[in-house]
Amino acid sequence: MPGEQSKKLYEEALNLFPGGVNSPIRAAVKPYPFYVAKAEGPYLYTVDGERLIDYVLAYGPMFLGHKHPQVMEAVKKQLENGWLYGTPGELEIELAKKILKYYHPGGMVRFVNTGTEATMAAIRLARGYTGRKYIIKFNGCYHGAHDTVLVGAGSAAAEYGVPSSLGVPEEIAKLTLVARYNDLESVERIMKRHGDQVAAIIVEPVAGNAGVIPPKPGFLKGLRELADRYGALLIMDEVITGFRLGLGGAQEYYGVRGDLTTLGKIVGGGFPIGVVAGPREIMEKLTPSGKVFNAGTFNAHPVTMAAGLATIEVLETGEPYRVAREAASKLVKVVEDLISRYDIKATVNYVENMFQVFFVDGEVASPDDAMKSNRELYNKLHMELLKRGVFIAPSQMEAVFTSAAHSVEVVEETIRALEEAFKRLR
Ligand code: PLP
Repeated sequence: MPGEQSKKLYEEALNLFPGGVNSPIRAAVKPYPFYVAKAEGPYLYTVDGERLIDYVLAYGPMFLGHKHPQVMEAVKKQLENGWLYGTPGELEIELAKKILKYYHPGGMVRFVNTGTEATMAAIRLARGYTGRKYIIKFNGCYHGAHDTVLVGAGSAAAEYGVPSSLGVPEEIAKLTLVARYNDLESVERIMKRHGDQVAAIIVEPVAGNAGVIPPKPGFLKGLRELADRYGALLIMDEVITGFRLGLGGAQEYYGVRGDLTTLGKIVGGGFPIGVVAGPREIMEKLTPSGKVFNAGTFNAHPVTMAAGLATIEVLETGEPYRVAREAASKLVKVVEDLISRYDIKATVNYVENMFQVFFVDGEVASPDDAMKSNRELYNKLHMELLKRGVFIAPSQMEAVFTSAAHSVEVVEETIRALEEAFKRLR
């Protein structure tokens, strides 16, 4: 549990940062966030002298675990050569080729610095390319913190009760049409009314900002067909799933391709990144070859390029996927056993190496279902695990992630903590 040193720092932070933090979800750890002194492998070490097994992984990026030696070496090597040039460096070409190989062979990439920037650029690009103004997104999906997507948003926006943010003008918000995840009819209804003015459907192929909600069979394919029928682009927001569900992300995993892909998190190896990738014909509309504006002082940052490239090289061995999958499948089985042992009304949603437990009777097939779950009980589980040295997401609206560093021993230790925690949920 967060201790005295964390408390002291947080009290100081409350005077410096709104809500004491620089990203809202960090304040969800109660009674105050723990402060981290260092991280290695599957562990976070707090300033209070505690060691925590980390299943948050910085909300996704640290898929190789913390301080992976190959990534460290690549970053150090880049630092030796300076770290920002304001002109192109060789590594951006290498990383772009890797990304295109798995997501858009023959296509093009634009590197930006966050997932937020990536979806912002992709949406502008879709509007510029199609000459249309509406965007369809799904209630409870999260695509970052810019105006167009802060309508019916998930993640911290849902956790803090601001799915539609103050400060987004109504005139902008009404260009974002909100459908229900896993409900093709809700998309079709919108298309029937506005189809000729819809620039893009943007979707998280696995909804990962409302817990974990996999797409129902046929859902993604149905989106593909609707986008094609109405001449809209399909933007696969793979900021979470990209390089997580496999090298080719959710699009390879489910066999459905978007027109544009947005990436972030894992592909930067733990450094800030966002990526828009797609076919040449669309991507060339971006400045300077086209008229859809995008720019950034830090775009294709050399340190990020080095870390991302090293990360993908490790991922290409396949081993990280095997370890992370094994860890998640074991943990899911244990949680399901505990649910039935204690006769708790709950369900576990699970894809490869990301899962979440919802304390609810029945299935969770949409973010609306997730909102109906007993979030207090989830928070209690989070607390009881934290007391026992295990850090899972402090919000029902986030995912539990495993990594290449969650070895059999680490999972065994987690299982002991889960057994103790579940005893206290009744
Ligand atoms: N898209 C998805 C699916 C995300 O999960 C997130 C962040 O959690 C974003 C976009 C925004 O990314 P960033 O926080 O890097 O701006």
